[in-house]
Amino acid sequence: MSIYQRFGVRPLINAAGTKTRLGGAHMPPEVLEAMAEAAQEAVDMAALQAAASRVIARVTGAEAGYVTSGAAAALTLGAAACITGLDPAKIDQLPNTGDLPNEILIFRSHRNSYDHGWRAAGARLVEIGMDDRTAGSGVRLLEPWEIEAAVNERTVALAYVANLRNEPALEPLIETAHACGIPVLVDAAGRLPPEENLRYFIEAGADLVAFSGGKAIGGPQSTGILCGKKHLIQAVLLNHLDMDMDLDLWDPPEDLLPRAAFKALPHHGIGRGFKVSRENIIALLVALERFASGAWREELGDRREIAQAVLRVVEDRPGISGQLVDSGGYPRVKLTFPDTATARRIYQQLLDGEPGIAFDPSDVYSGVLLVDTTTLRPEETPVIVARLQAILSN
Ligand SMILES: *Cc1c(COP(=O)(O)O)cnc(C)c1O
Repeated sequence: MSIYQRFGVRPLINAAGTKTRLGGAHMPPEVLEAMAEAAQEAVDMAALQAAASRVIARVTGAEAGYVTSGAAAALTLGAAACITGLDPAKIDQLPNTGDLPNEILIFRSHRNSYDHGWRAAGARLVEIGMDDRTAGSGVRLLEPWEIEAAVNERTVALAYVANLRNEPALEPLIETAHACGIPVLVDAAGRLPPEENLRYFIEAGADLVAFSGGKAIGGPQSTGILCGKKHLIQAVLLNHLDMDMDLDLWDPPEDLLPRAAFKALPHHGIGRGFKVSRENIIALLVALERFASGAWREELGDRREIAQAVLRVVEDRPGISGQLVDSGGYPRVKLTFPDTATARRIYQQLLDGEPGIAFDPSDVYSGVLLVDTTTLRPEETPVIVARLQAILSN
């Protein structure tokens, strides 16, 4: 019996990918073992974050890094760092920014549900640029001169949301932002794999980059990483850690936060509610090293077989077509039905069966269901194949 059944919840077969609402990635056994081990010893959390910083710096090429409670929390902490620096009074003040500079510039069409993360720190997003391509009214997106025109004494950063098309091109925007004296914050939460992207945004000159720990990295769902400039990571630490301690007795990790870098210890900052446990940090680090070494590719063969098995079910079947989608990570299968009503019905039937199978309905409006093999195990293939066959034969 599943541990979830013991508590009256039905477990699902997740064919929808590392979706947060379905619990995200499955953790590899070595990650789980490290997590169990870490939960049984005490450790100084600042020293642990300093160790995490060294690992994250090594795999990303950044000056420093930090483990957060997810990429969304990383956005909040990154924005807080840009607003407060290492100043305890400013750290104490958030999210009420008052007269503090708090504006983050963002390309109009990069606005998305996750930008609440930046706003939660007290930042105000200022939209710039014209998305003429999406509107079909022209060819341009955000132009560097528009950043120059928008920067003023209240600007603290430029935000950039990394997408599959990498539009607008990041490098010229970074160059202009830096010329204007503002840092660039990149939300790259879902841009892994390929593992090369761990380094790409830092190499391009970004000042802070956020990744999810519970998506492709395969760490705990409630982890994420921030990597980037050391002075910003130091400000993240002061906004985040519990430092309820006598200043003279507190022993900050010298390589991440030298004692001379800050003048006083802040009270609990805005990040105090985003605590990351020691076992989560250790599990994330083990998962990150594994992912960065390319270990996920060893499972590509298995995942391709799962995808092929699903494709065989729909082959030559009237009223449905299957197509392999390979965008650099684990393969997905796109199942196209005659209309959205049919796709919705099949989605529901799969979910309501025993066991429940969750396909990805992100494109159900076009009559499409996606089978994402990222979170599937080979032993789940026969179950999916049998259920899909039974439903489609009806
Ligand atoms: C998933 C995602 C996030 C949030 O990541 P969590 O680790 O779940 O907090 C933020 N931004 C984008 C673009 C994402 O895809």
